[in-house]
Amino acid sequence: MATSAMKAPKGAIHEALKAVKIAVVGTGNVGSSTAYGLLLGGLAAEIVLVDINKPRAEGEAMDLSHASPFSHATRVRAGGYQDCAGASVVVIAAGINQKPGQSRMDLVHANVAIFKTIIPEIVRYAPDTILLVATNPVDILTYVTWKLSGFPTHRVIGSGTALDTARFRFEIGRYYGVNPESVHADIIGEHGDTELPVWSLSSISGMHLPDYCRHAGIQYDQKALTTCFTNTKNAAYEIIKRKGWTNYGVATALTRIVETILRDEDTLLPVSMVGKFAGVEGVALSVPCKVTRLGVFHTFTLKLSPEEESELRMSAESLKLVLKQVEPHLTQGLGL
Ligand code: NAD
Repeated sequence: MATSAMKAPKGAIHEALKAVKIAVVGTGNVGSSTAYGLLLGGLAAEIVLVDINKPRAEGEAMDLSHASPFSHATRVRAGGYQDCAGASVVVIAAGINQKPGQSRMDLVHANVAIFKTIIPEIVRYAPDTILLVATNPVDILTYVTWKLSGFPTHRVIGSGTALDTARFRFEIGRYYGVNPESVHADIIGEHGDTELPVWSLSSISGMHLPDYCRHAGIQYDQKALTTCFTNTKNAAYEIIKRKGWTNYGVATALTRIVETILRDEDTLLPVSMVGKFAGVEGVALSVPCKVTRLGVFHTFTLKLSPEEESELRMSAESLKLVLKQVEPHLTQGLGL
């Protein structure tokens, strides 16, 4: 999950990235931190910030521009939807965020209403772009974005469980005292309360966790690992209780996804896309997907244990239930 572009030496922008424009719609905590990650990564020649609160977008653009002499010669400016024209990727972080005690699903109606106004505008000016959704509940809004945009599924990506997976690897790495980069363990399903860990495929340097423990001479303790997952699942609630929002983790995940697209990496990332999961069709959720210059693709079926398969189905079904409430509202006033 390391962001190699953020480690790249100053001035080492790949030739092909010199003409790249990225737009960020919604420049609050998440959007502005993502723009900062993109700037430090040297991932684009131009970053355009769009927000209903124009002074906020202008202020963020001014502030970020002052970081460019220390990082990369990226032009950062505030703009309108017309300035999304030609953007390779449009990151969408517009909408309301969770208040302490709220779940992501509590945001669904307000954020769907916002997306009904912004997605047609983005599509009008950037019909060939890739849409990368961060706004919560992200799986529902990834589906809604796909529906409102009329784009093929591969050009609509939700950040999904990329962040949860990073949190999970961090927790497992901390528990075993190894660098999280050596941990391969994914969270799949909803980015939210029904997400699940794929224990059956989790490994450290290619060794399944019980094998790793045997070779490292330590006791395998499933209870401690369950705590790693609980900490992962509750991380947003715990952070929001303390500071009011989350931004750095998700911004780094979004930066990494954009990097994967722009560099055409073929990296497998747990991100959200519309498809059929555990027999449930027409939902968006996360499983490891191949991310390329063209967007996101399901290229294989994850071999899950029967329990994991059933948990994934439950996660998909719970999202489908929400979509059944949301779907009738998507056609109103849009001529769809
Ligand atoms: P924020 O309130 O700081 O920023 C939201 C921004 O959206 C504001 O600047 C606001 O003016 C703008 N906005 C609202 N309506 C708009 C519209 N119609 N057009 C354009 N801009 C509009 O919120 P935040 O903390 O940055 O969170 C943004 C979203 O990201 C929330 O839904 C939050 O839950 C979500 N989030 C997702 C993840 C993830 O992993 N996917 C992680 C953290 C937060």
